[in-house]
Amino acid sequence: MTVAISVPLAGEETTRKTFAGLSHGQKVFWYVLIVVSVLIFLAGLVRLARKYAKGRTPFRFDRPTIRLRRAAEVVVRHTWIRKRDPTAGLGHLLIFYGFMVLFAGTAILAFQDDFARPVLGFDFWHGWFYLAYSLFLDVFGFGLVVGLTVMAVKRGIERPFRLDYWRPDRAEGEYDRLPYQVGDWSFLFFLYFLALTGFLLEAFRIAATNPDFEVWAPFGWLLGHGLRGLGLEGASADDARYTTWWVHGVVALFWVASIPYTKAVHMLTGPAGVAIQNDRAGNRLLPLPAKVKSEEVGYGVITDLSWKHLVDLDACTKCGKCHAACPATNSGYPLSPRDLVLDLREVAEGSLGIRSALHVGPLHDSKASVLGDPIRPETLWSCMQCMACVEICPVGIEHVPIINQMRRRLVEQGEMDSMLQTTLETVYTSGNSFGEAKRKRARWTRGLDFEVKDVRKRYAEYLWFVGDYASFDPRNQRNTQALARILRHAGVDFGILYDGEKTAGNDVRRTGEEGLFASLAEENVETMAKARFSRIVSSDPHTYNTLKNEYPDFGGRWDVVHHSELLLELIRSRRLKPRGLGYRVTYHDPCALGRYNGVYEAPRAVIRALGLELVEMPRNRDNSFCCGAGGGRIWMKELKAEGARRPSESRIDEAVALGGLDYFIVACPKDVTMYEDAIKTSGHQGELELRELSELVLEALDLDEAEPEPSREPAAVGAPDRNERETA
Ligand code: SF4
Ligand code: SF4
Repeated sequence: MTVAISVPLAGEETTRKTFAGLSHGQKVFWYVLIVVSVLIFLAGLVRLARKYAKGRTPFRFDRPTIRLRRAAEVVVRHTWIRKRDPTAGLGHLLIFYGFMVLFAGTAILAFQDDFARPVLGFDFWHGWFYLAYSLFLDVFGFGLVVGLTVMAVKRGIERPFRLDYWRPDRAEGEYDRLPYQVGDWSFLFFLYFLALTGFLLEAFRIAATNPDFEVWAPFGWLLGHGLRGLGLEGASADDARYTTWWVHGVVALFWVASIPYTKAVHMLTGPAGVAIQNDRAGNRLLPLPAKVKSEEVGYGVITDLSWKHLVDLDACTKCGKCHAACPATNSGYPLSPRDLVLDLREVAEGSLGIRSALHVGPLHDSKASVLGDPIRPETLWSCMQCMACVEICPVGIEHVPIINQMRRRLVEQGEMDSMLQTTLETVYTSGNSFGEAKRKRARWTRGLDFEVKDVRKRYAEYLWFVGDYASFDPRNQRNTQALARILRHAGVDFGILYDGEKTAGNDVRRTGEEGLFASLAEENVETMAKARFSRIVSSDPHTYNTLKNEYPDFGGRWDVVHHSELLLELIRSRRLKPRGLGYRVTYHDPCALGRYNGVYEAPRAVIRALGLELVEMPRNRDNSFCCGAGGGRIWMKELKAEGARRPSESRIDEAVALGGLDYFIVACPKDVTMYEDAIKTSGHQGELELRELSELVLEALDLDEAEPEPSREPAAVGAPDRNERETA
């Protein structure tokens, strides 16, 4: 067949008739259906808004331009959805743009038929506009079908762990995820149905009338000519078109009406969740309100959740990315961040949501505690607050603060792991988690051949906030001494707080013991306010995080650096001149340094400056795998499933699998403790050795052979003292 595509073909006759074959009464009926569909949709939106309004904190939308720009970028570029699963990301991208273009096409048609033509007398839906319109919708409609196929293959054939509804916190038979599976497949089915009936509708129309210019709708044209080849043309094709028009139209309206009530709601709540996400969720937990009653501490009932966290529950698409990334889930701890969100969603829906309004069970009491049922305490205590879930969630859900808020309520009620309770009491009485006398905090300095300044008495450029593990743990003390020698060699003017330092409290806060954290922060800020220094350095990422991000809420605003950042500064300014070591190493990103604060490059740059061959583990940078110590888990009893590998053991397995490594490098005192242990318990003793970053830097400086450089004169006493200015 020859197809002539010429300018005359793109004239006013190049169009098609809308509502072809419908009587006036049928058109009126169609518009009534549209109104009903939109009303059901709006009723669902109102019910959602009423549910979110039940959240404890009021609606707040600060920095709207930044937030909306971020949401638009995330949605348009699909950056969060494509992360770590580009195939699923591509599938979703095709669905999203296919859907948006088809929706826009329908809206344009409605504008033409219901406003431009009857009201303005302006008819634009013909000629070249019509041809371009047809081409666009056809191509994007085909993209939609391809995207849906990708997702169906993922879910039905590939079936990765993340899409499996297995729960680590319930035995088989204790839970039923069939409704979710039905919801997932119905969502795909309806979109498939709409896309395919859309193509069929087009094909029947082309088969019936066969205008040459419809080649601009290439997929519909091919299908239409296929039907003609099968003998379906003329009136019989038009009858099929008429029936398909109604089926397609009614199902489309039904689908629109169902959006707030089904999985499709994520099309609204997902972008909303991204826009309202607190971009510091996790690294800066919010203090308790000034006058909070004991029964209002944290989250205990569903209406305690903030409105943002209630939106989060509906935003979850059940993609399972958090489930797959979570070290607790992977080690068989009774926690899956996905299931935690879904359990809370069930409660919210069954007590405040559309399901409760329609009395569709299971129903819940909005004033009944969620702690115990459905959220078990051991689920909450399993969390390492590592932020892997928040970091990977494509819709900005804040699992970490949600879990922390529920822990706060458990702590308030005195319901906690006995080991944790003992440790917190120890911190309360001694100011450190080791239960050591405070005068012993600086004992590690005795191994040095020089004196370390007391910043409470003399100005130093750097206050080194050492932290508990680096101060008291014998294995860590070696690293602490190594760092002290490096700083001395580089002429860095530093001092410590000696017995004035207390646990910074990062992990105390993450256990939910907010009162103890607040008193630690206040006491440390008070001590530091009397000391004289310009910057803070810490080798402990947990300490670094809370000093940098949380102490400002307690009046302490300082410039805080991690020791890897300071070491890099010293190397770049040639105050340290390490020789090349030539080892083959890998590096583990600590959660509190990497995901919490985005410090990925400084330790790597130091490693490169030492002439080391850095081989990355598959899970590196923002995909790093927690050692299992965070969130206070290092102080709690083991909760992993029998026979499962601990997170730290899995990590060592991962490093050993790289083959031929000399060292496993860490930059966190808790990692030193966790991985020294894991190398032994994982069965890899002798295959891999742990080194803390400072140890390697010290080795590369050959200080044992060289004379230590004399310490430079400290900056003049009275030099700029941020501490005094900013904590006043
Ligand atoms: S913070 Fe880490 S341990 Fe806790 S739920 Fe998220 S991924 Fe799991
Ligand atoms: S919480 Fe986020 S990452 Fe987890 S399943 Fe839901 S949408 Fe996916």
